[in-house]
Amino acid sequence: MQRRNFLRNTGLTLASLAFLNKESLAAFLSDPTWKIKMLTDDIGIFSEKGGTIGFLLSKTGTVVIDAQFPETAPHLIEEIKKKTDKPFNFLINTHHHGDHTAGNIAFKGLVGHVVAHENSKANQERVAKEQKKEDVQLYPDMTYDAKGWMQEADKEKIQTYYFGPGHTDGDSIIHFQHANIVHMGDLVFNRRHPFIDKTAGASVSNWIKLLNKTTSTFDKNTQYICGHAGPGYDVILKAEDLKAYGSYLENLLKFVGAEIKAGKTKEDILKATEIPGSPEWKDGDITRPINASYQELNS
Ligand SMILES: [Zn+2]
Ligand SMILES: [Zn+2]
Repeated sequence: MQRRNFLRNTGLTLASLAFLNKESLAAFLSDPTWKIKMLTDDIGIFSEKGGTIGFLLSKTGTVVIDAQFPETAPHLIEEIKKKTDKPFNFLINTHHHGDHTAGNIAFKGLVGHVVAHENSKANQERVAKEQKKEDVQLYPDMTYDAKGWMQEADKEKIQTYYFGPGHTDGDSIIHFQHANIVHMGDLVFNRRHPFIDKTAGASVSNWIKLLNKTTSTFDKNTQYICGHAGPGYDVILKAEDLKAYGSYLENLLKFVGAEIKAGKTKEDILKATEIPGSPEWKDGDITRPINASYQELNS
């Protein structure tokens, strides 16, 4: 982030920086570890490590989407407490992965309810058990099925959608209707090779349909937030970025399918350095989407 934005967003002034000693000033200027960006007066994003967090500050209370890690969530909580003294009413998890839910625990005793799709909760419980991390979880206590969930918060209306499996089998899309801002969680990896979690029921082919359904559900002015982006790319997106990501997934399936048909082994296919037709996807591990697509096309 640009330093000027950082200063503005954190409410620090150049005058207050003068009170820092030389070492901490150098550390401060070189290493702002987290950043907050407001998209409207009351809706913002928080980025530090892991999936982008979204939040809404309303007269009736605060709503947070995703929680990153136990060591980063407290930074978000501190920043929100500087902005409002209203209670944390809801924490919504877009899906179960640790870089979105491990920080739930920081909200223990602080948040009214943790909300998620029922598959997301089941995945969270299963993985915590496998990793023997059950003692550091704060599980969703409110779940919903394909019908989604709706909650009003002063002038804002929050609606969650479930369009079937994509990145996992429990990914929600969360719409702030009044502001027309949608949090996609990890349903979009902007110009970055995705993680496709086959151990949690992911589906590349349904992911493509789900993205089409998303762009037809919302309108051309909708702003989208995504969990992860490649270096130099934003986590705030427009419909055309979702379409570009949908074409990436189509190109991925087409490429792997054609290679299988041509008699290539999985090892050969994994030697690819880019997905033909989607050269912007350079960052991240290309073997993960190829492996997942190979598995999907062979089952
Ligand atoms: Zn993530
Ligand atoms: Zn994820």
